[in-house]
Amino acid sequence: MTISTNQRSEAVIRLLRKLSSVEIARACVCGLILSLMAIAPGTLAARPKPLPALEGKLIDLPGKGPVLKMPDKVQVLTATTPYLFHTLQDKRLAGREVRVEGRPQADGTFQVEWLYTIREGKLYRVRYYCKTCNIVALEPGKCVCCQQPTELQEIPVTDSDQ
Ligand SMILES: [Zn+2]
Repeated sequence: MTISTNQRSEAVIRLLRKLSSVEIARACVCGLILSLMAIAPGTLAARPKPLPALEGKLIDLPGKGPVLKMPDKVQVLTATTPYLFHTLQDKRLAGREVRVEGRPQADGTFQVEWLYTIREGKLYRVRYYCKTCNIVALEPGKCVCCQQPTELQEIPVTDSDQ
């Protein structure tokens, strides 16, 4: 505990002289990984406060667009991006229990920023995937690469990325 900075740096230099360059490179990589791991929790902690959330049944009403059917009301949904809006209209998600996070608008609609499906009380992210090309698409439809229909996938949300 009483080692001075000078003594400590001398010890480090002696240690470095003993190590081969390969070992130094390995130590650098380990250090890099450790520092990246140290950054990750910080970025999560810096997440803005949670958005208002609604849970209900997703239904695409003819003439009204996507709505969220809750026990006490029917909420008309809009979305921050066309991709998300098309996802809200995906027939494969019709009638599904979902959670939407976003902002209530002055016109009475709810602007969705994040969509999750709910299965047995657990949240899932929705994504579109082409197995042939191994790429993820932003919205339902054909793969931009091979033009085959993409597959709707639901990825469990873990505590760390929620
Ligand atoms: Zn493809």
